[in-house]
Amino acid sequence: MRRYVYRFIRIFMEEVMKCNICGGVDTYVKKHKHMFIIKGEKIEFISFRRFCKKCNNLVYDATLDNEASLKAIEIYNNNYGIPKEKIIELRHSFKLSQSLFSKIIGCAKKTLISYEQGRSIPNDNYLILLKSLMKEPFIIKTLVDSNRNSFTDKEYQKIITSSSNLSDISFDANSYNGYTKLNKNKVYNMILYFANKGVLKTKLLKLMFYADFLFYKSSCNSITGLEYAKITYGPVPDNFESIISDCLKNNLISYDIIYKNDYENHNIKSKRKFNKNIFTKEELDILDKVNNFFKDYTSSEIVEYSHKEKAFTETEYYKNISYDYAFDIDIDK
Ligand SMILES: [Zn+2]
Repeated sequence: MRRYVYRFIRIFMEEVMKCNICGGVDTYVKKHKHMFIIKGEKIEFISFRRFCKKCNNLVYDATLDNEASLKAIEIYNNNYGIPKEKIIELRHSFKLSQSLFSKIIGCAKKTLISYEQGRSIPNDNYLILLKSLMKEPFIIKTLVDSNRNSFTDKEYQKIITSSSNLSDISFDANSYNGYTKLNKNKVYNMILYFANKGVLKTKLLKLMFYADFLFYKSSCNSITGLEYAKITYGPVPDNFESIISDCLKNNLISYDIIYKNDYENHNIKSKRKFNKNIFTKEELDILDKVNNFFKDYTSSEIVEYSHKEKAFTETEYYKNISYDYAFDIDIDK
């Protein structure tokens, strides 16, 4: 039996190493310059290949030929796709197994393994997905939520825990952002909410301050993750000018300057309906509460009101305001 196996291997090897052109069996190995075209890209490199001694043509050699194709894939992935090390690194950053990670990106486990081992090139869909995850790791939650039914509760919890740990690394939670990552969608929609019937800019900026700080008072998180600063007109979102100009660019609001008794009034009005689905019930309650409490306040009245807050009096001009002062704010009185 053993003899039979050895004979089989010898016949197999001899067949493999035989020249296809002249039938010669004397071969040698030398460095060879390759040119592969992969997905339209020219891949050139030098590696060892086997040749026929008699006619000098390439002879098929399973090991060397395989090494050459792996090299071609590696060069392609490094230059035009994603290096295999980066895919492994990405999966490790989420602390996920190959089974679970492949499920999230929607490919078979063996496909993911072949990417991680550099045996194949991710197709364009996976390439885009993997690159997006590298740039914006948080979209993993959206990916999972959009396909919630294919995960068990245990798997889902594992993914959510991993991705929330991720946020602790890349974002500095502190008392100036209310321990909350900036959520621009919530910023814009908060503006759409308060500017629904039109509101003066000065008043709008104070309403945002009260909403974020009062929510922090009840939950120890801000709604939007915005930082607020002290200026002459009271507490305002840091960089509010760029927030307003983003809203204008995205055609979310109209902005009119009205002159009244020598004063410039900057009137902001929503052009779209605010999306209440992105807020929790508790957040919506705070928005309503702030809106109702200040509904009859003019701009100068709300400025005056905000000037009495410790958040304002105990912060230096042009410095950011700590959310710790939220506990001294009370609009129930
Ligand atoms: Zn030959």
